[in-house]
Amino acid sequence: MKIVVTVKLVPDTNAEKRIDPGTQRLIRTGVETVLNPYDEYALEAALALKEKLADGSTVTVLAMAPEATKETLRKALAMGADDAVFLTDAALAGTDTLGTADVLAHALKNIGFDLVICGGLSDDGSTGGVPGALAEFLAVPGITNARSLEIIDGRVHAQRETDNGYQVVSAALPVMLSVTMAVGEPRYASLKGIMGAKKKPIAPMALANIGAPGSAGAAGAKISLLSTAPPPVRGKAKVVEATDGLSGAQAVLDFLKERKLV
Ligand SMILES: Cc1cc2nc3c(=O)[nH]c(=O)nc-3n(C[C@H](O)[C@H](O)[C@H](O)COP(=O)(O)OP(=O)(O)OC[C@H]3O[C@@H](n4cnc5c(N)ncnc54)[C@H](O)[C@@H]3O)c2cc1C
Repeated sequence: MKIVVTVKLVPDTNAEKRIDPGTQRLIRTGVETVLNPYDEYALEAALALKEKLADGSTVTVLAMAPEATKETLRKALAMGADDAVFLTDAALAGTDTLGTADVLAHALKNIGFDLVICGGLSDDGSTGGVPGALAEFLAVPGITNARSLEIIDGRVHAQRETDNGYQVVSAALPVMLSVTMAVGEPRYASLKGIMGAKKKPIAPMALANIGAPGSAGAAGAKISLLSTAPPPVRGKAKVVEATDGLSGAQAVLDFLKERKLV
């Protein structure tokens, strides 16, 4: 079975995010790029499935990102992915969520797949819109928010997290599935994995290789980002000083009552 994991390459999650006021895009220069944390869970699910199946299944990672971020994919290869496809093209800058799903779908049809596994959310764009749109563009069943999955007789069986519990769903392959963090902690790359990753292939892909979909780039985007603003600065915190637990609790209660919060 061919499993493809879509991974977004994002600015370091702990770095302060800065927006270019001219383009309204994230400034990536001078900030380390990492694998989108959610996508490490997607990769873990794929690797665990491959190990369980033990039938020669392969795991490919696919990223659409600026050229300078390519080597970040080595971490996915070090964790255990067999190979990587790096889709980059200057004309992709400014692609919106729908366009990203469309372009990724073109790439996936080119690569071939039985199962596509996505993270649930990117750390920077954070729309969570790509997986559902991707299933639609691929015209395959889409199972979102999976916390577990297994393959039985050519069907994916998954538990989908909901607000109240979980649903048990099943769909015939090929399938697009996105995961939640409950699917299992991502593994650390071993030293052997890190050394081996240096020799694993990262295949380049450009828009011309996948039929140059018109949804790519700022020109194809249906959403215009009009402005961005930092979150409001929080007021000073009130520090409660108390000599014992009871008077401290009373002070906190008075504070909440004053503001009609309890
Ligand atoms: C040249 C270039 C410049 C770019 N610049 C930016 C930028 O400045 N800011 C920005 O946010 N994005 C940028 N992108 C990426 C792209 O535009 C976004 O990925 C897109 O808007 C996805 O929306 P999201 O982040 O809300 O994804 P979500 O829907 O929140 O992501 C959900 C899941 O979809 C998958 N996914 C999402 N995006 C990608 C991707 N690019 N590749 C592989 N899998 C993916 C992952 O599995 C992820 O966990 C750039 C891409 C290129 C090629």
